[in-house]
Amino acid sequence: AIPRRICARSLPPALTPWISPFNHPRIQRRGAATEGGFGATEPATATQNDLDFSPKDDIVSLAEKELHKLSLNDLIRFGRPPLPAQALLKSARFTREALPIRLSRRIVALRNLPYIIVSNPHISSIFENYQHSLRTILSFPRNHPTTLAEELDFTELLTTIVQTHQNTIPTLARGFLECRRYTTPIEVTTFLDQHLRERIGTRLMAEQHIALHLASTKSPDKLDSENLTNLVNDSYIGCIDTALQPAKIIQSCASFVGDICELRYGVRPQIKIDGDPDVTFPYIPVHLEYILTELLKNAFRATVESGSTTPVYITIAKNPYREGISMRIRDCGGGIAPENLENIWSYSFTTFDEDEGRNDDVLGRFNDAAGGADGSTIAGLGYGLPLSRAYAEYFGGSLTLQTSYGWGTDVYLKLKGVDVGAL
Ligand code: ADP
Ligand code: MG
Repeated sequence: AIPRRICARSLPPALTPWISPFNHPRIQRRGAATEGGFGATEPATATQNDLDFSPKDDIVSLAEKELHKLSLNDLIRFGRPPLPAQALLKSARFTREALPIRLSRRIVALRNLPYIIVSNPHISSIFENYQHSLRTILSFPRNHPTTLAEELDFTELLTTIVQTHQNTIPTLARGFLECRRYTTPIEVTTFLDQHLRERIGTRLMAEQHIALHLASTKSPDKLDSENLTNLVNDSYIGCIDTALQPAKIIQSCASFVGDICELRYGVRPQIKIDGDPDVTFPYIPVHLEYILTELLKNAFRATVESGSTTPVYITIAKNPYREGISMRIRDCGGGIAPENLENIWSYSFTTFDEDEGRNDDVLGRFNDAAGGADGSTIAGLGYGLPLSRAYAEYFGGSLTLQTSYGWGTDVYLKLKGVDVGAL
């Protein structure tokens, strides 16, 4: 069971054809529902103006709208699936309203990069993906869906959008690497940090509706639900597992990372879980999988490269006062040199390949067998720590690191759970 986030699934940028709201088969243009909920104050009828997409003005004004900070409580507010039709429609309309604002912000941010960077083919392909996604979602009338048939269309459209953006991170990473002589690491990190943090929320918002749909309707086969089928599970509310057991995720990530470690070095370090392995808490499994995979890759790599045979110790503790956990991942892999320590949170900073003298061919890592950038190599992108921290902090958690150079490294991960008691 390879964690979903790190599956190498290189999707072609198969873009949905332009769907005009005026020839959309299932949508009759008429007064939309006004039963409250998100967007209830907006005009009830989708007019030509609402739907027209003029790249010059609309993106900017959409991007200037207030960004609703997504909270775990937002994700569960429509209730526990299977949702009644009205709640499912509300969730869809909430997503229809919020996504264009988020996509527009990404487009504006990309457009504000120096021209030489935006014109890099990788970065411009991401830019075009965002524009295409925005156009696609705007093609769906505002204040819709109002029927379950429309909701299915909407969810299909959403699924295509999510898939289109599957490869955003490695593509951007490659683009920025190719542009590194035109920019500074600080500029890149500032841009990427904001971009990738907002992307976490945008993606989650779309995935949450898709997961709620799958868990609430009997039509999962109509969608390409390969990635989402195991979200249809009793303890899940959409993407949130209300009984997530970190020890289980550690085991599956360690087995995956052990495989890639063995592939590269011929050995796999052992792990030992202590503390309270039975702890469960409500959280988003894919986020925890991402973080743990990256932290274990770092710990395994350090262990093997330093020649240590000491296992990686993972201590799990439940917060005694509120929903949440902390974890310490301890390796005896020699620690981090002081001159590197200040850089480890920068995107693209890596010490990988240095000893093999391959640093000149830094782009080569994207061409390696596994593609390098899809998460299936042990290290090399330099995105592991900063992006893991972005995931941890997204819902109020934290990721910190203590190192004893010459001995080893402790990484502390703290996560707040969502309070689902009321549901
Ligand atoms: P990458 O693993 O792709 O190099 P990361 O962001 O995960 O990128 O880590 C950045 C750098 O921090 C690594 O290249 C390594 O030098 C250092 N590092 C991170 N974790 C550890 C660790 N547990 N032990 C030793 N060095 C580490
Ligand atoms: Mg790493």
